[in-house]
Amino acid sequence: MAARPAPYLDDLNPAQREAVERLDGPVLMLAGAGTGKTKALTSRIVHLLVSGKARPNEILSVTFTNKAAREMKTRVGRLLGQQIEGMPWLGTFHAICVKLLRRHAELAGLKSNFTILDTDDQIRLLKQLLAANNIDEKRWPARQLSGLIDHWKNRAWTPSKVPASEASAFNHRGTELYEQYQTRLRELNACDFGDLLLHVVTIFQAHPDILEQYQRWFRYILVDEYQDTNVAQYLWLRLLAGGHKNICCVGDDDQSIYGWRGAEVGNILRFEKDFPGAHVVRLEQNYRSTEHILAAAGGVIRGNEGRLGKELWTAAEGGEKVRLIGHWDGEEEARWIGEEIESLQKGTRGLDPKSLDDMAILVRASHQMRAFEDRFLTIGLPYRVIGGPRFYERMEIRDAMAYFRLVVSPDDDLAFERIVNTPKRGLGDKAQQLIQHTARQFGVSLLDGARIAVDEGRIKGKGGGHLRQLCENLARWREAMLGPVLRGGEVPDDGIEDAVIDNEEPLTVGETRRGTPRMTHMELAEMILDESGYTAMWQNDKTPEAPGRLENLKELVKALEQFENLQGFLEHVALIMDNETEESGAKVSIMTLHAAKGLEFPVVFLPGWEDGLFPSQRSMDESGQKGLEEERRLAYVGITRAEQLCTISFAGNRRVFGQWQSALPSRFIDELPEQHVEVLTPPGLYGGGFGAAAPYGAGSGLETRAAEANVYNSPGWKRLQERSGQRPMSQPRESRNTVIDLQAVSAFETGQRVFHQKFGYGAVIGIEGDKLEIDFEKAGVKKVVARFVHAEND
Ligand code: ATP
Ligand code: MG
Repeated sequence: MAARPAPYLDDLNPAQREAVERLDGPVLMLAGAGTGKTKALTSRIVHLLVSGKARPNEILSVTFTNKAAREMKTRVGRLLGQQIEGMPWLGTFHAICVKLLRRHAELAGLKSNFTILDTDDQIRLLKQLLAANNIDEKRWPARQLSGLIDHWKNRAWTPSKVPASEASAFNHRGTELYEQYQTRLRELNACDFGDLLLHVVTIFQAHPDILEQYQRWFRYILVDEYQDTNVAQYLWLRLLAGGHKNICCVGDDDQSIYGWRGAEVGNILRFEKDFPGAHVVRLEQNYRSTEHILAAAGGVIRGNEGRLGKELWTAAEGGEKVRLIGHWDGEEEARWIGEEIESLQKGTRGLDPKSLDDMAILVRASHQMRAFEDRFLTIGLPYRVIGGPRFYERMEIRDAMAYFRLVVSPDDDLAFERIVNTPKRGLGDKAQQLIQHTARQFGVSLLDGARIAVDEGRIKGKGGGHLRQLCENLARWREAMLGPVLRGGEVPDDGIEDAVIDNEEPLTVGETRRGTPRMTHMELAEMILDESGYTAMWQNDKTPEAPGRLENLKELVKALEQFENLQGFLEHVALIMDNETEESGAKVSIMTLHAAKGLEFPVVFLPGWEDGLFPSQRSMDESGQKGLEEERRLAYVGITRAEQLCTISFAGNRRVFGQWQSALPSRFIDELPEQHVEVLTPPGLYGGGFGAAAPYGAGSGLETRAAEANVYNSPGWKRLQERSGQRPMSQPRESRNTVIDLQAVSAFETGQRVFHQKFGYGAVIGIEGDKLEIDFEKAGVKKVVARFVHAEND
């Protein structure tokens, strides 16, 4: 090949370059965090395109999250110096499999417009199944069955392939229920997440001709985060790469954090066996983090056994040590981090001022997020939650989407059940049972069952009238979605028509007629929400949440804009793992450690390092080290996300699911190498200021850790003292911030009209500690910190 200038190769080191340029045959890149695996993978795509080896649609490139896929697309575009004309097969396993499955749905017993169920629907379905089988859900919870079925699907076991060794699962009825569940899904024209892969693998195995077609089509295969593939994903890859074997996988055994979801690190180790002659590339230079950060992460991961054992180095010497700080409770921790973020924005500790986009808070469990969200709302600090308690999981959003789903897929029974009596249509349990019964009797969907029940007069009275109206509405909305009919013909199945519009008579207001030109899907969505009475339901609702819910519905319609149609949108929602709203402006990111994989931020906060939270209680209760080792890898992932500043914190007390619990600092804190850690003093303890840190490691590690935190009052601390036979220490002073807030609160009295920067106008209805309870005109009743409230003197 003639040597061409290739600027994208210039900023790679020789090992990376080797991995990029060796395009044909199997390549495995096995290397630690931040060594430029993803960068090399991206450059490899560019190299494939530039060298003319493949067109964009011939490259199959698998990333772990949708966010990562978007990022990779942008990076490829940047390296190429031009917008790429679509990389249709760059995405997550799930996103790619949805596309494949839509093309071959009939081979899995589905129609191409199948619905993808989320966990909530899945559980509801399983509950019905358990009830129908007279199984006591209290003893045998649906959630457990769902976990079991997921586990089997992750191993690519269809019901008939579940091995005999699993026969005793779920009180010996697991396999049978799995089979029933699959049948039910087919009847509903639906599949769950696990099915997306399972169906495609099954189709490939049963139809070699189809597999061959795709083997030829996807000329090059690339996989990021390979350490987290499960058996089904692995089989899928092996099938697709089986012909040409042009597959390049990159991963890091130390970052395998999805074992609980069936991922097998073993896949990495098996690569060379499956693809003999595979070229293995190792990278050792870390380009992301400073020396202290890398050394701290290395110190923690060293506690794991059976590693491949990679040593990393960085040219970024020195920098800030990893900071460690303890707090009285989770609220205090959130408050402190909020203040740190604000001072980092201004520039502190010799660091340049940082944008909020440069900072991230990575939590072990999503319930930890609430404290940060509350705090940041109070102080007006912009933040985004990635993959957290999602917008799309809110009740009103799920209701609205059930309407949309039913319009897109009329046989989506779960959606029908969700909305049939929402808003109230006088269709109680009895009427709903009648619909179920009719549907079963005729072997049709619930919606069709409802139509029959109404037509045959099985459901009478007001409820019957409302139900008829609902059925008619749904049919009309669907027509509006499919758009104009062909003159004298049918709407084609795929909804794509080049029809002539037969528009003879003018329409009256509010009337939609067969043949009406297609409205935008935003208009349609609004129409559905209005005409169904759903919007009115919340307008008439007097609870404080109602205005917020109406806001959310508006937001939902807004979100539709980015999609071509309702189906595309529903698919997106079913698949997304992150939900950044595209509002402008910099924001702090809050996400779980799991969601942070592959990402990097100049500043990282790692809160909640307490035994029982991180490592999780479950991993500590387990016999053996497996769970604990996975948690340790998660700690390694967390620390290695940081480029310049990494702060680990823990709280002595924490409210978990409404209950106060005291905690001891995480055992992983003991594993941080002392010389790379700086212990900060919490503001209230020695009169404030961070300079007065006690030397780390004075006394036993555990005592020092606790002494640095305000944990003296906690039962956990007392237990610790009993154990070490120490004299109780003095109580911590009130933190400085609390004092300020108490002063602030004294300026208010109940009944007073006030203004809050985030929630607007309201009246004080109660005062509690440093907080005011305010009945806001728009936001309803909230407790806020007095400091951010202004008295209105009108
Ligand atoms: P992780 O294991 O966390 O996914 P990774 O190995 O995929 O990490 P990348 O995200 O590709 O690492 O790279 C980490 C950082 O180092 C990025 O900011 C990237 O731009 C930079 N980088 C990678 N390779 C080089 C290089 N050869 N020269 C300079 N910077 C590099
Ligand atoms: Mg990466």
